[in-house]
Amino acid sequence: MIPFLDLNQVNAPYLKAIEEASVRVIKSGWYILGNELKSFEKSFAEYCNSTHCIGVANGLDAITLILKAMDFPAGSQVIVPANTYIASVLPVSFLHLKPVFIEPDIRTMLLDTSQIESKITPLTKAIITVDLYGRSCEMDEILEIAERYHLRVITDAAQSHGATYKGKKAGSLAHATAFSFYPTKNLGALGDAGAVTTSDAELSEKIRNLRNYGSVIRYQNDYQGVNSRLDEIQAAILQVKLPYLDAENQRRREIARRYLREIKVKDLTLPPADRVNEDAWHLFVVRHPERSALIRFLDSMGIQTNIHYPLPIHLQKAYQEFRHLSLPLTEQIHEQVVSLPLNPVLTDEEVAYIIQTVNQFDHQT
Ligand SMILES: *Cc1c(COP(=O)(O)O)cnc(C)c1O
Repeated sequence: MIPFLDLNQVNAPYLKAIEEASVRVIKSGWYILGNELKSFEKSFAEYCNSTHCIGVANGLDAITLILKAMDFPAGSQVIVPANTYIASVLPVSFLHLKPVFIEPDIRTMLLDTSQIESKITPLTKAIITVDLYGRSCEMDEILEIAERYHLRVITDAAQSHGATYKGKKAGSLAHATAFSFYPTKNLGALGDAGAVTTSDAELSEKIRNLRNYGSVIRYQNDYQGVNSRLDEIQAAILQVKLPYLDAENQRRREIARRYLREIKVKDLTLPPADRVNEDAWHLFVVRHPERSALIRFLDSMGIQTNIHYPLPIHLQKAYQEFRHLSLPLTEQIHEQVVSLPLNPVLTDEEVAYIIQTVNQFDHQT
């Protein structure tokens, strides 16, 4: 069986360095907000070409803390893509702000920029762009609209570590960017972890304080903050893995290039091929009207797939208030998408087998 993603295999090349780093932290006797975190924050800010990086507990908190620091009045509207993981939107409603959903561009499956302006009202304060599957959104257009309407732009880059847009790194494009280092992400910890990058010094300071109970000086609290810290062991592990992120992304691109060139199946839509070398290829998401048959066939041939995601946010039980929304493209995507295995530890033989097997689906139907 070719697994969709085997984290043990993904981390195996770094195991020795990870063990050494973990033991170093354990023996140091300092486990929270220390030099390991400081040093990773510096490295990751540099990697993203951003001025500031603030380590937090996870990706969801990264988005939440950015929005909390921006301090919009309750009831303000935040534009969000309808096709995304629920974590991109939960912070909005959690802070009593109103998500305004935008349909995707069916080709990229990302936020359709041409629809943003029609959704802007006097209550709109921000746009959350999500680099879903590893591809950056059309940031020039989005930042231009944001500037015209005085909106803040937040990027959910949980899937796009190392992606670029017109030569600029994810994490340097929006006013603030949220990252997740959940173990399956392109840069993954061995537990939960996340970060915010921003070039806004004031925002950075506020998020830094908010993640630690709103404390500026010890036991002096200027804000009602939370506990959302990236611990020393995870920071040390991320520091070990960061130098290899680019090479891993290159391997992902190599595999994506082969899939795009060699997979040819009737009625199967491949992801866009126009930015192969900029995309971080967190996921390789194809669409097929007979999705279940395709998944069953690949499974019978020993290839594990996944669905990102099976049910859109507006149809989730958790969000009954959005059930009435008409988002047909989003629904179509959720009915048709399948993610093929794409990760840095796939061998050339496995890639060839996946291509050959997917292409056989043609003859099945
Ligand atoms: C993983 C993910 C998140 C959430 O990250 P956590 O670290 O699990 O909180 C948010 N948005 C997207 C698009 C993700 O893929």
